[in-house]
Amino acid sequence: MMNSQALEVVEKLTSEGFQAFIVGGSIRDLLLNRVPKDFDVATNANPIQIKSLFDRARIIGRRFQIVHVKLNKQIIEVTTFRSNNKDLFNEQRIRTKNGMLTRDNVFGSLTDDSIRRDLSVNAFYYDPHDNTITDFTNGFSDLREGIIRIIGDPATRYREDPLRLLRVVRFAAKLNFLIDSSTRAPIKQHGKDLKQISAPRLFDESLKLFMSGHGLKTFELLNEFDLLRHIFPTLFDNIDSNDLHLKIIQKALTNTDSRVENKQRVTPAFIFAAFLWPEVQSNAKVLHSQGKSVRQALEDAAERAIACQIRITAIPKRFTLSMRQIWSLQISLEKNIGARAHRLIHNPRFRAAYDFVLLREQAGENLNGLGDWWTKYQTSDEKIQRKMISTRKQQHRRKC
Ligand code: ATP
Ligand code: MG
Repeated sequence: MMNSQALEVVEKLTSEGFQAFIVGGSIRDLLLNRVPKDFDVATNANPIQIKSLFDRARIIGRRFQIVHVKLNKQIIEVTTFRSNNKDLFNEQRIRTKNGMLTRDNVFGSLTDDSIRRDLSVNAFYYDPHDNTITDFTNGFSDLREGIIRIIGDPATRYREDPLRLLRVVRFAAKLNFLIDSSTRAPIKQHGKDLKQISAPRLFDESLKLFMSGHGLKTFELLNEFDLLRHIFPTLFDNIDSNDLHLKIIQKALTNTDSRVENKQRVTPAFIFAAFLWPEVQSNAKVLHSQGKSVRQALEDAAERAIACQIRITAIPKRFTLSMRQIWSLQISLEKNIGARAHRLIHNPRFRAAYDFVLLREQAGENLNGLGDWWTKYQTSDEKIQRKMISTRKQQHRRKC
């Protein structure tokens, strides 16, 4: 079903004499009988002209200006046709020495715009007036055959914007498409260019990679193309040597994928906590062996892992705070017995931390039945809870 707000935006622009089309992923998804995530509009009106036509519109971005038009609580992204003209460089189109575009605001015609898009299946233009879809880049045939293909010369397009490496992988996983051989060939070699992407942009992309319901498949493809090391470098140091850690991450992604499918709430804190856990756990072990208390060692290791990671993917504070709590509750869930057990289950992070314990156990870590204990504790009445605590205290004393 075409979105009525996107149609309204197109209608307004065309009634003012501009060209306007519904473009990008929404048309691709509708052609595949999928529900589009959002709707994008492309037009020959420039950002200032677009903004002036709508009551609630704002221009966002610098590298790539777009206009967010808000209608009935929905945001429609409106972009001006861009040109990819290789010879045209001025203050609106700036390229670094190695070919990356740090500003890409040279406006162009409809055909210019179609070839500057990333993938053939993302470059459809729907015109509601005559109900037609224009395909300048052979997208129909790729869509039919299930192929992800970069428009133009792949190496150049990756150099212009290395984020396209991740987009290729993301759409291949999401649509279950094959990556065309010349699109795939330069991916590994350009992975290192991902460090040129700003940390906020890479964080936004990491949400799309892992929180859109195809996280596990995306993770496996990223691994195949050796791209993970550029997003989570510390993960790579720890994962090879320890199959358990890999399993924890795979399980976390599977959990998130099925929660997305069942329309349950998901938080990136859980996934990021799993990604950094190998690093945190192994550093905490070292710090503990150097004399720090178990809790202090874990907290210091957490601090360090987060400080390194946010330089690459700018995880907002509210999520890093949850990650720390999930990790630190791993100790509390093991140690805090007695009256504190009752308080713990009312901790707002209890659920995530308990899920994390289950994850570790499912992956094969031996936590002496900790997950089971908490599962029973939560579902028992007070009398049984008291009995469970006294048995656990005895076991704990014996262990000490
Ligand atoms: P979805 O919204 O389902 O993740 P999408 O294809 O709509 O997928 P968006 O990120 O919303 O992706 O971008 C809208 C469109 O803008 C894309 O379909 C593509 O045509 C174009 N586009 C986005 N990012 C880039 C990029 N880095 N390089 C070239 N074109 C891009
Ligand atoms: Mg979109």
